[in-house]
Amino acid sequence: MYDVICIGGGLAGLTAAIHLRKEGHRVLVLEKEEYPHHKVCGEYLSKEVAPYLNQLGIKLPSDVHIDTLEFSTRNGRSLRVELPLGAIGISRYTLDFTLYKEAVKLGVDFDFCTVKSVDFNMNVFTVQSTSNEQFQARFVIGSYGKRSHLDKNLSRSFIDKKSPWLGIKAHHSWPEFPEQEVGLHSFKGGYAGLSKTESGAVNFCYLVTYKSFQKFQDIDQFNERVVAQNPFLSEFLKKSTPLFEKPMSIAQISFESKLPVEEHLLMCGDTAGLIHPLCGNGMAMAIHSAKLASELLHHELTKGIPDRQKLEKEYTKTWKRTFGRRIKAGRYLQRLLLSEGITNNLFSLASSSPILLKKLIRQTHGKPLSL
Ligand SMILES: Cc1cc2nc3c(=O)[nH]c(=O)nc-3n(C[C@H](O)[C@H](O)[C@H](O)COP(=O)(O)OP(=O)(O)OC[C@H]3O[C@@H](n4cnc5c(N)ncnc54)[C@H](O)[C@@H]3O)c2cc1C
Repeated sequence: MYDVICIGGGLAGLTAAIHLRKEGHRVLVLEKEEYPHHKVCGEYLSKEVAPYLNQLGIKLPSDVHIDTLEFSTRNGRSLRVELPLGAIGISRYTLDFTLYKEAVKLGVDFDFCTVKSVDFNMNVFTVQSTSNEQFQARFVIGSYGKRSHLDKNLSRSFIDKKSPWLGIKAHHSWPEFPEQEVGLHSFKGGYAGLSKTESGAVNFCYLVTYKSFQKFQDIDQFNERVVAQNPFLSEFLKKSTPLFEKPMSIAQISFESKLPVEEHLLMCGDTAGLIHPLCGNGMAMAIHSAKLASELLHHELTKGIPDRQKLEKEYTKTWKRTFGRRIKAGRYLQRLLLSEGITNNLFSLASSSPILLKKLIRQTHGKPLSL
């Protein structure tokens, strides 16, 4: 019997496991993939979580400090703005692996399996994997990311709605790319992020609507015919060398609203709600939500008899208060960025007043976080 099982060992699951284990609880992480592995992600980690990770004893193995955003419209009008907080450029391959190693060192248990169902009965959760192993715990954190067949089992409302978004990512070599910069470049039907990672590779990651992509069905062709219409991206594609054999892709990325608690599971990270990637805040939110859930769980676990109802109510309230406005701001910004006319108007406004752009960025980020 574990105190807590985390279903999914991405940023949310690993952070919660480390935090709770440091408080002395018995924790199991169930993860379907062995570490290390690459993930589709912009790999821009907002510095708001750096103090908290530091307090958990995690040293981030990256010297890439990003402090400037270069933004461009489809036709290549561009502006630069200093980022209020800035970010660390670090690949998911290294970041998740660093957290995993720390969790193992602290005594978190891991089982590499795909979870197929969760049952809650008489105050005990039974979690079952596709190979029919069973695990039991007093509490379960749902940290399995954007989408899983588990969402279907839990009858979550967003899962039946089709989502039009695809994400594509690859690392490229382009030594000239400035280390302190993140590029956000728009093109028809989507936008791309460019930033350096700890290895010196530039991460090229974009989000695009299926409608815009489907005529091509081939990433190289799409890059050539659509992405490269933006002069910044055209230069990048011409001058850089791909480092992956082929780009990674994910489909059905949903930005629908979700609930932070379902069937008594506390949902963390993307499982509770995904902010639009252009905000560069999903990773920080995954880590922050794990902190919120862990603090409340620790409090309940150290009480004689936990009050589950109170815990769930408190987590829902705190989650919504912390992230609700950020997610809404992200949704709004994404709509603006994908409309060419509005982007051009916004661009003119932002060029004459960089403070406005900084304010918009602040709306989608949190304040520095610590224990
Ligand atoms: C295109 C794109 C670009 C992005 N760029 C950025 C960015 O630059 N900066 C930023 O901060 N955020 C970015 N994000 C968001 C960020 O990637 C996510 O918010 C973050 O990964 C959330 O972490 P998580 O722990 O919730 O989920 P994940 O990191 O997805 O972890 C979930 C884990 O659960 C495992 N899993 C899933 N189902 C099961 C199961 N049934 N059983 C066992 N294990 C399971 C998976 O293997 C995975 O390891 C981007 C997202 C997209 C789509």
